[in-house]
Amino acid sequence: MAERGPGDEASASEQDLLAEEVLFVILSVALLVVCSVVAWQLAQLYRLLLQERSVRQFRPRAGLGLPAADLQSLLAEPAPDASECCVCLQEIEESTPSLRLQCCSHIYHHSCIVEWLRVVASCPMCRQHVGSQSEAADVGP
Ligand SMILES: [Zn+2]
Ligand SMILES: [Zn+2]
Repeated sequence: MAERGPGDEASASEQDLLAEEVLFVILSVALLVVCSVVAWQLAQLYRLLLQERSVRQFRPRAGLGLPAADLQSLLAEPAPDASECCVCLQEIEESTPSLRLQCCSHIYHHSCIVEWLRVVASCPMCRQHVGSQSEAADVGP
């Protein structure tokens, strides 16, 4: 930059010009930083959206059976008769009231399967239609 002139007015105008240039540079750098930060955040958001979409694609549909984690936890503590309730994912003890569906012979806690059948009239395990127990017994080949 040019040296300060002898006159006060010229020096003041040069200082104003210098201040404007400095301000312009500062604003440019700040704008660049803001743009880069916004772009980085958008990239992170896009990556998260892609991850969530992939997770949703590979997530098993609800109602098809036990999740893998629950299966592993159940295998860690097997029931004496190797039967567990698919509704509450807990083992069926001999003292607990249970109910065996006649259509598919799957066994559940009595309270669990009653609550389930109140909403969905199908076996939680194999999705077979569950009518009344007598109706299921009557239907045969
Ligand atoms: Zn249960
Ligand atoms: Zn079943």
